[in-house]
Amino acid sequence: MTSQEQEPWQWDEATWRGHVERVRAGRSLAPKSWPGGARAAVALSFDNDHETIPLRDGEVRPGKLSQGEYGARVGTPRILRLLARYGVPATFFIPAVSALLHPEEIRTCLDGGHEIGMHGWIHERNMLLSPEQERDLALRAVDTLERLGGVRPVGIRTPSWDFSDHTLPISLELGLDYDSSLMADDEPYEILADGRPTGLVEIPVEWVRDDAVYFPMDRYTALRPYTSPRQVLAIWRDEFDAAYAEGGLFQLTMHPHVIGHRSRMAVLAELLDHMAARSGVWFATHAEISSYVRQESGLPRRVAAWTDAPSPNQ
Ligand SMILES: [Zn+2]
Repeated sequence: MTSQEQEPWQWDEATWRGHVERVRAGRSLAPKSWPGGARAAVALSFDNDHETIPLRDGEVRPGKLSQGEYGARVGTPRILRLLARYGVPATFFIPAVSALLHPEEIRTCLDGGHEIGMHGWIHERNMLLSPEQERDLALRAVDTLERLGGVRPVGIRTPSWDFSDHTLPISLELGLDYDSSLMADDEPYEILADGRPTGLVEIPVEWVRDDAVYFPMDRYTALRPYTSPRQVLAIWRDEFDAAYAEGGLFQLTMHPHVIGHRSRMAVLAELLDHMAARSGVWFATHAEISSYVRQESGLPRRVAAWTDAPSPNQ
């Protein structure tokens, strides 16, 4: 009987240890200090999923698609105006299909001094794909973003943070600087593959710092908003305050079609007020954070051929 056919309680130590070690947190890359002597760092991100969430599920009703369209039509411009008012840079992770549907968006974000990162082709579920399919979509996605924006992305956030067994080798083959899909720390760390250092920086995320946990609503499923915008503000403010007290990183994930509504933008504006009022806060893109912690920790960058990279089936 192979380990695949066994129940987890029947696995030997090599099996359960192997699963855990496949992709794991290595050394912390938390710097001793942030640039300019800043006390804490803030990395805001927006995942511009727009219509790709329903499209990914084969959901093509105009009504459902319009909910995503709001993100590009209203959400992103509103977010860009708010960020400009505070002079704060952010990272926009954009599925290639979103970018093709709204080609002006990448340029507008870049012109505002923001970063563009990878976020899949059509917000696909990586765990459902073959390695070859996931790789093909990733290669097409990065080329599409580069063609539309004129800048090749250096970071990836997997759609829905769905990090498959094959995501890491693909990111290494693409020569990316960082991933932002894993959750093993509050602070940046180096990703290990089967216990070996990969040179890839992780800028960790968490559902607690994601607007999609608190706000979305779907008429025909049980999905309902269960936290008021003001309660969400309290959670995120506490997250920031603790990061500030520890001299660490506060990373936040939002979506233009979610946070971009008026009552929720008020929350983001208050949060920015709160953070900007503190002295010594470094607002940076994910790429800037990654580049800084890599430099401070002397982390070498590695590029691995797809076939040389660690495979879960070895
Ligand atoms: Zn997304």
